Amino acid sequence: MLVFSGGTGTPKLLIGLKDVFDESQLSVVVNTAEDVWVSGNLVCPDVDSVLYALSGRIDEERWWGVKDDTFTTHEVLRRLGYEEMLKIGDTDRATHILRSELLRAGRSLTEATQILAERLRVRAKVIPMTDDRVETLIRTTEGKMHFQEFWVLRRGEPEVLGVEFKGINEAKPSAAFLRELRKAFVVLIGPSNPITSIGPILRLRGIRDALKNKFVVAVSPIIGKKAISGPAAKLMRACGYEASALGVLRCYADFLDVLVVDVRDELVRGKKEVDGVRLLAADTVMNDVKRCECLAEFILDIVEAERLLPKRT
Ligand code: GDP
Repeated sequence: MLVFSGGTGTPKLLIGLKDVFDESQLSVVVNTAEDVWVSGNLVCPDVDSVLYALSGRIDEERWWGVKDDTFTTHEVLRRLGYEEMLKIGDTDRATHILRSELLRAGRSLTEATQILAERLRVRAKVIPMTDDRVETLIRTTEGKMHFQEFWVLRRGEPEVLGVEFKGINEAKPSAAFLRELRKAFVVLIGPSNPITSIGPILRLRGIRDALKNKFVVAVSPIIGKKAISGPAAKLMRACGYEASALGVLRCYADFLDVLVVDVRDELVRGKKEVDGVRLLAADTVMNDVKRCECLAEFILDIVEAERLLPKRT
C-alpha cells in the first residue's frame, strides 16, 4: 500500500499499519518541503518522524525526535552563545549528521533515506517526495518566513496571508515515488496537514492527475473545526478552505474516493457522501497503539472491500 505522509497523524497511523499489515508491503512517500539546514545538517522533520515511528524510537509526547533523547549539544551551543533554530536532541542529531554526510558525499536524499531506514531496521520503503529542494514559506502580515520560523520560533502566532512552496515548479517527484505510484492501486493519504504536508506532495508535477486513476482514501486530521495538533486549521483558512473535515475533502476533491472522518465530528454526522466522495466515520484519535491499530484495521477493511489488497491472514 502506498501512503502519503507528513508528520504526527500519519506516523501514528503507520504504527498501527505496521502492526496489522505486512510492513515490507508499505511504501511511504514523505513531504520534504519543511526540511531545513540547522547547524550544518539537514533536518527532515517528516521523514525523521516516519523513520522514528516505524522503528519504535519516536518521542510520543511531541511526535517528533527520539524518545528519552538528551540535549547536551544544543545546551552547550546555547552556553557558547549560539541559539539553534530547533531544539535538536543528541540522538536525533546523529541521524541528521549521517544524512548530511551522505548528501555531501554525493548521495541523493532518496539514497540517504534508504540507508538510514536500513540502519534503523525499518522494513517499509520510506521515500522522500523529491530529491530537489522545496521550501515552505508562510506569508504573514509581518512578512514572509520559513515554515519552521513561523511554527517553532513564532509559535504559529503571526496572521497568515498565504503559503508558498519555493522551488515546487522545478522540483521533480523522486524516481522511487513515481515507481511506487505506477504500481499502486490504492493510495492512503494520512491525517497530516493538508496544506503544508500533503499539499507539496500533490503539487509535484503529474501527481494529482495520476491519483485520479487510483482508489484514494484519506483520513481527516481535523475534527469539528480544529486540528488535533499543529497549525492545519489556521493554514487551511488562510488558503481559502473551511477548517473542517469537509474542507479537507475539498483539498482532495478531484481524486478522493473515501474520506475517513471522526465519529465525534458533529459537522459531518449522518453524512454519507459529499461531492461524490464517500464519508466513513471511525475513531480517528490515536492516543495509544491499540487505537492506531484499530484505525489501521478500519482502513484495510475499506480497501479490502474494494478487493484491491490480498486478504490479511
Ligand atoms: P503540522 O503539525 O500541521 O505541521 O503538520 P503534520 O503533517 O505534522 O500533521 C499534523 C496533523 O496531524 C495535524 O493536522 C493533526 O490534526 C493531525 N493529527 C495528529 N494526531 C492525530 C490523530 O491522532 N488523529 C488524526 N486524525 N489526526 C491527527
